[in-house]
Amino acid sequence: MSESVTFSSLELSPAILQAVEKLGYETPSEIQAKCIPSLLAGKDVLGLAQTGTGKTAAFALPLLNNIDVKAKYPQILVLAPTRELAIQVAEAFEQYAKFTHGVKVLPIYGGQSYGIQLKALREGAQIIVGTPGRVMDHLNKGTLKLDRLSAMVLDEADEMLRMGFIDDVETIMAKTPAEKQTCLFSATMPKQIQSICSKYLENAEHVSVAARNSTVESVEQVFWMAGHVHKNKAIVRFLQAENYDASIVFVRTRNDTVQLAEYLERAGFSVAPLNGDMNQQARERTIERLKNGLLDIVIATDVAARGLDVPLSLIHISEPTRPY
Ligand code: AMP
Repeated sequence: MSESVTFSSLELSPAILQAVEKLGYETPSEIQAKCIPSLLAGKDVLGLAQTGTGKTAAFALPLLNNIDVKAKYPQILVLAPTRELAIQVAEAFEQYAKFTHGVKVLPIYGGQSYGIQLKALREGAQIIVGTPGRVMDHLNKGTLKLDRLSAMVLDEADEMLRMGFIDDVETIMAKTPAEKQTCLFSATMPKQIQSICSKYLENAEHVSVAARNSTVESVEQVFWMAGHVHKNKAIVRFLQAENYDASIVFVRTRNDTVQLAEYLERAGFSVAPLNGDMNQQARERTIERLKNGLLDIVIATDVAARGLDVPLSLIHISEPTRPY
């Protein structure tokens, strides 16, 4: 947290400050302190930051502050790599807009019925948070118009690149007004992201927050080495010995999620897999069951688990071949 900056010194509207206070945010995080003034002033921002740094509020608070609530058309478009992140960002906007009357936020992602999305678009949603695929569908159908957009955010741009969405992202950007404000967040800066930045960002404020120290003081981190053949047995023993309400186990592949879930089920655990083969409803249901205590353990791939917001008491990373 940045010691010297307070939320009230950031020139956000009283309604937004009230929402921030209600959420219990005390001081702006480093990225918020750096981004909010620039975005409020209408500048483009290039943010090198990971999840957990508070980047969502860093762009959502100032952009929300600047919309015209009386104008009932899309003014802000956020593109996110996964449905889960899109939903989470949309929920964050809704929380921040709680006391700002007349704001409508719409998450649009594949797997959700078009009906809900079309209704909200007709009702004049000003903030659209979507995955590139579904946003493209709406643009092709003519149901989403971006010609009066005032701001656009690419959230987790490197993930969109990694997941193969970058052409869709560029097609979408080409359909937005040139004079809008653009904001790009990425944890890393591969060449293709750099080239998007030089193409679409103008005199951008570069904001970089030191790679997040992903340890939180309240979280104890422990590791055990176990040979491949002993791993499943080791996890069972570990789960039997630990005290926990909800647990998530990360594995490398979709197949592993199913196999380990079946193994743990046979060992008597209340467990389910979470992977990209499952449709959106099934994924949401699994997360709800974990939150409600109907499930104790979810076995996930990192992609399926991105953007989840579940208080966990245990996290296992099996075969951590990628940094999480
Ligand atoms: P993000 O990096 O945007 O995914 O945010 C990570 C988490 O930090 C979310 O649960 C936010 O609600 C929370 N958060 C964001 N900004 C603040 C803040 N200034 N103070 C406390 N919590 C925050």
